[in-house]
Amino acid sequence: MLNVENLNVFYGKVQAIHDVSFQVNKGEIVTIIGSNGAGKSTILKTIVGLVRSTSGRIIFDGEDITKKSSDALVRLGVRLVPEGRQIFPEHTVYENLLLGGYAERDKKLVYKRIQEMYELFPILSDRKHQSGGTLSGGEQQMLAIARALITTPKLLILDEPSLGLAPIIVQGIFDLLKKLCAEGITILLVEQMAAMALEISNRAYVLEIGKIIMEGTGKEIGSSEEILKAYLG
Ligand code: ATP
Repeated sequence: MLNVENLNVFYGKVQAIHDVSFQVNKGEIVTIIGSNGAGKSTILKTIVGLVRSTSGRIIFDGEDITKKSSDALVRLGVRLVPEGRQIFPEHTVYENLLLGGYAERDKKLVYKRIQEMYELFPILSDRKHQSGGTLSGGEQQMLAIARALITTPKLLILDEPSLGLAPIIVQGIFDLLKKLCAEGITILLVEQMAAMALEISNRAYVLEIGKIIMEGTGKEIGSSEEILKAYLG
């Protein structure tokens, strides 16, 4: 479904991503793990058109999306849940969900999807008139995911969904991702604290200073001595 081929990304003269290649197959959950500053966010931002690569190709569903705009990618079914969630704290839960449908021209469909999100996340329904900033961290993460689901993505990309959340909340988020995957959404995520993410992942890649140094099944990576020491505490 997604093929990233020989990607190179620079910030000014500094190369952040070195010849990175990986793939995500339809129906998979794939995790990229790596420490602080390894380049995980850069890869995701490049896929969704927020950062431009200097060379390499990104193919989605057989189409070259390397130079597409973020809006075009949302319409094609590629959607990012950004690091730190980036919900609008002053806007209500309902308004945040509505904004999630900005790229969808059929507003009736957006309203219908918002109702579906209230069914999937009853807590968001209870709090629909509350401003986003008053939600707990876990609720904000759910709102960020629900907002991304408004346009029914084929590929949902999440930048450190566990960031700043208690393990029990993280477990809930990962259970949700498993459920979404079972319902047909392919998932790519990046994580620094990766033990729980690897448990739900079909496959994983390890990124170190902008290079992929290892790949395997979630189980293989999660049980590798080297990885356990370096990334999983
Ligand atoms: P974190 O887990 O801290 O988010 P990361 O693995 O996502 O880290 P990136 O944010 O992709 O890493 O950063 C990769 C490298 O690129 C780092 O050295 C970072 O300092 C640098 N970098 C990131 N964004 C910019 C930018 N806008 N301008 C210049 N350098 C940047």
